[in-house]
Amino acid sequence: MIKYILLTITLLISYCYSFAQDKKSNLNISSFHSYKKGPNNDEAKEIIKIANAVLNSDEFRDSLQKVSFVSANNCNCNSEIRIQNGKISGYEIYKLLQTNKSPSLSITIRKKSKGTLGRTTPCTTEIISYYSNVVKDMPELNDTAALAVNICHEYMHSLGFCHPDNFKENDTRADGSTYDKSAYNEDVAYRIGWIVFDILNRWINVDHKKFDVY
Ligand SMILES: [Zn+2]
Repeated sequence: MIKYILLTITLLISYCYSFAQDKKSNLNISSFHSYKKGPNNDEAKEIIKIANAVLNSDEFRDSLQKVSFVSANNCNCNSEIRIQNGKISGYEIYKLLQTNKSPSLSITIRKKSKGTLGRTTPCTTEIISYYSNVVKDMPELNDTAALAVNICHEYMHSLGFCHPDNFKENDTRADGSTYDKSAYNEDVAYRIGWIVFDILNRWINVDHKKFDVY
């Protein structure tokens, strides 16, 4: 009997372990290019390591439980995106990240753009990040963490999310009205970017965490 109980416990532990192993976002790089004085290959690995640490954190999972997004975020290239009552739940996005096991991104770092932080053709894995713009936009973070935030934003485009309304905070529409914060919050790529930023800001500036513990 004791043998049986021990066997059951062992099986249960190994099942839980494999389940936990399955539930991981494992972003990696298929190719990496940078301008001459930009990040090198080791820094690129660090950027991806930081992004994975956040995407696999309890804080990230918990933040996504509380949010939902308008269906217009869907670029209609990923049949796995489930829409209910005109909304995409944060949990759906979390599940998508966990089931998309080893997404390989082709990352190009360019020096700067005229305004945008990054660029990704939706539903492709080709990502461009503009170093100076990204770093200037997030002075609270070190350069690799700031780039990790941008890569997470761009990765949302790869997964099949578009900006529902092409706006920037404080922009005005053609009719003179302004975009409100709630519309901004319902944009998957922006919101995920902000969630990742908030977590990294806390880890770095409050908790003083070291990333190699992940
Ligand atoms: Zn974007």
